[in-house]
Amino acid sequence: MFEKLKGWIWINGEVIPCEEANVHIINHGLHYASSVFEGIRVYGGKIFKAKEHFERFKKSANYLNFDVSFSVETLMEQAQRLLEKNNLQDAYIRPIAWCGTRSMKVSTNHMDVNVAIALWNWETKPYANEGISLVVSSWRRPDPRSAPVHSKAAGLYMISSLAKAESENKNFDDALMLDCAGNVAESTVSNVFFVKNGVLYTPIPDSFLNGITRLTVIDIAKSLGIEVVETTILLSDMENFQECFLTGTALEIRPVQKITGEDHVWNFNERTIVDKIWEKFHQMTRGF
Ligand code: PMP
Repeated sequence: MFEKLKGWIWINGEVIPCEEANVHIINHGLHYASSVFEGIRVYGGKIFKAKEHFERFKKSANYLNFDVSFSVETLMEQAQRLLEKNNLQDAYIRPIAWCGTRSMKVSTNHMDVNVAIALWNWETKPYANEGISLVVSSWRRPDPRSAPVHSKAAGLYMISSLAKAESENKNFDDALMLDCAGNVAESTVSNVFFVKNGVLYTPIPDSFLNGITRLTVIDIAKSLGIEVVETTILLSDMENFQECFLTGTALEIRPVQKITGEDHVWNFNERTIVDKIWEKFHQMTRGF
C-alpha cells in the first residue's frame, strides 16, 4: 500500500486507521472544491509554527464561507497526539476541511463540515545550495476579485498543478507565476525573494498566500540587520537582482539559479544572503 495511506488518521474528533477514512463520491468538497488544507512540517518530533498553520487553516475555511469548529488549541493537541501515535519524528502534517454530503446545492451555506488530520514521514534533507531552474508560467495567479487568494483553498491548486506540470514538461524544476497585472507573484507552492546589493525584495502578497515561511524569512532577515522591501516586482527588474530564492513549508528555503522567460534568461549566481538566512532557519528547525 502507498506509504501515505498507512497508520492512523484523525477525523472529526476520532482517531481511526487510515484505510477506514473514506469519503462518499457524492461529496460537496470533491465536486465544488469546498475544501481547504494545510501543510505543516515536523522536525525532531516538534511541529513547526503549529499555531500559525492552524490559525490559517480556520481562516482559509472562513474565506470559503464555512467554519472549522475545532479550536486552534484542540487541533494542535490532536496533531501532536496523532504524531506520537504514528511514531513519527520528521513528518508532514496535512489537515484538511471540506463540505460533505448534506446537499449538492452549490452554496456552502448550511453544509456539514468535515475536518481531518493526516500525516506521513518526511525526512529533512540537506540544504540544496546549487539552485533550481524556473520557467515563467503561462498560467497567472487569479485576480483577488475572482478567487479567495488568501485561503489555502484546494480549488486554487488547480492553477499550481497546471503550472507545475507545464514546467516539468519543459524540463524545468518549477514555475514562476505572474499575477493578473503581469507582476511577479510567486511559484507554484512557494513564495519568491530576490536580493540586490544586500537588500531583500519580495512581492506584496496581495494576490497570493502570505506564506508562513515567507514571514519567518522576513523576521530572520530583519534580525540579521538585512533590509526587507515588499514591493511590486516586474520581470524587467530581475536584470538587477543577484540572488533569488523560494520559501515554503515543503521546499523550506531553496536558491534559484535560473529563470527562463519568453525571450530572456536571468541567472542568479550569488548565495550570500540566502546562505545567511538558511543558517538561522536551520537553527530554528533542526535546533543546532
Ligand atoms: N504559495 C502557495 C501557492 C503555496 O501552496 C505555499 C505553500 N503553503 C506557499 C505559497 C508558501 O506558504 P508556506 O510558507 O506557509 O508553506
